[in-house]
Amino acid sequence: MDMDTSLSEIQNLAVAVSTPARVGMPGHRPAAAKQQWRRHHDESRGARPQSVVLYTTSLRGVRRTFTDCSAARAILRGFRVAIDERDVSMDAAFRRELQALLAARGRAFALPQLLIGGRLVGGADEVRQLNETGQLRRLLDGAAGQDPAFICDACGGVRFVPCTGCGGSRKVYDDEEDRVLRCVECNENGLVRCVNCCS
Ligand SMILES: [Zn+2]
Ligand SMILES: [Zn+2]
Repeated sequence: MDMDTSLSEIQNLAVAVSTPARVGMPGHRPAAAKQQWRRHHDESRGARPQSVVLYTTSLRGVRRTFTDCSAARAILRGFRVAIDERDVSMDAAFRRELQALLAARGRAFALPQLLIGGRLVGGADEVRQLNETGQLRRLLDGAAGQDPAFICDACGGVRFVPCTGCGGSRKVYDDEEDRVLRCVECNENGLVRCVNCCS
């Protein structure tokens, strides 16, 4: 995944959220909208649901980080919203994406990090505090809903699947050049994001 593309996508989402599409204009709804997601709110408003992006790690190297990620995830699931969880241990592009995002705001790298509608909310402490004061509920008002028990059939909830281009080997044979090339479709682990559950 290209870092600049991801960042500009986040920025575009922020713009989309602050300027809701007008009702009745065809072609405004994204064709790739997930069927299993339902809107919390009135469809006729026409606004795209706010993205809820949570950067995490599934590595247990630093116990505090791991438990903070679990805590933030659990709080968000309690609101029954769809979470775009970006596990930096699954894809180095997520780590680079988050590093750039935090550096641009003068913040040190830390996990987890929550973004709602493209805006940085913060880490585990901020999520806890906002939850306790009831502000998190308001921030999540425009998010797409999802049953917390939902498990994707295609990836089993891992959000990644082995690359079909190279079978997960990260190598493809190029006939014309008669040599083995690095597969361009997958990440450093030979994985691609699950299209069934991830946008
Ligand atoms: Zn591949
Ligand atoms: Zn999936």
